[in-house]
Amino acid sequence: MSIEVKILGTGSASPVFNRHPSSQLLNINNNHFFLIDCGECTQFQMMRFRISHSKITHIFISHLHGDHYLGLVGLISSMQLWGRKKDLYVFGPKGLSEIITVQLQFSETIINYNIHYKELDTEVSELIVDEPTYTVCTIPLSHRIRCCGFIFKEKPKKRRLIIDMLPATITPLQKVALKKGEDIKDEEGTVLKNEDLTLPPKKSLSFAYCSDTAYHESIVPLIKDVDLLFHEATFHSSMIERAVLTFHSTSEQAATIALKANVGQLIIGHFSSRYRDLDPLLEEAKNIFPNTVLAEEGRSFIINE
Ligand SMILES: [Zn+2]
Ligand SMILES: [Zn+2]
Repeated sequence: MSIEVKILGTGSASPVFNRHPSSQLLNINNNHFFLIDCGECTQFQMMRFRISHSKITHIFISHLHGDHYLGLVGLISSMQLWGRKKDLYVFGPKGLSEIITVQLQFSETIINYNIHYKELDTEVSELIVDEPTYTVCTIPLSHRIRCCGFIFKEKPKKRRLIIDMLPATITPLQKVALKKGEDIKDEEGTVLKNEDLTLPPKKSLSFAYCSDTAYHESIVPLIKDVDLLFHEATFHSSMIERAVLTFHSTSEQAATIALKANVGQLIIGHFSSRYRDLDPLLEEAKNIFPNTVLAEEGRSFIINE
């Protein structure tokens, strides 16, 4: 099992210094491909980094500021032109489906594949995707308009059998019971303890995406111990007043959240157009949370067992 996050856009409201608006590609186990936010130019970034649009099944939009969704109608139209047949699942706050529908309607664009819209409640965390091996839940954020992040979590795995310790007479049903954590009995009825025959399950992987938000400590329990956290860091702490005013975070605040949540690694991004050099943002985050990296377009972050 592996989770790969590829950064497609690292900018904020205005695209400058070759930074594009927000978008990331999530790849779970080389099997499930999701787009998270879809700012303007996302299609071009996908082409640039050779990402096949046909693989994408789900698109998650955090909120309706243009830098997070203005690329969506273009991508949906292109998928039609490219002959898509596969269903597309689009998650976003109230209003997203109406905006897309009206644009397609006035351009008389007919879409020949099914688009399933799921309106998100951005006030409470909700389970929005429940698959056999992973889940996706929302993370309510504090922004000027309704906004939520997303947490992608592998489901708990089963215990691992220690082959050499298993009795010769073990049945397939007993193996299943052991993997679930239950004890079994041998032919004479003696109880064989689970902990003697199995090892703990491998760690379940997780990635959390926290797009535009003011410093919001109540997200900490929701993202506790994730392997990888993306948290916006629009400003350096010298611009804290501006961050508060615009409901954004400083890199120092992003790092504080990462520290409190005990995450494995922090990626900061969504940089203000005023910064050409991002090192001061990275430096102040690292002072608080050393395992911090800058989001760079085209760069992939991979977590595996
Ligand atoms: Zn934004
Ligand atoms: Zn925003």
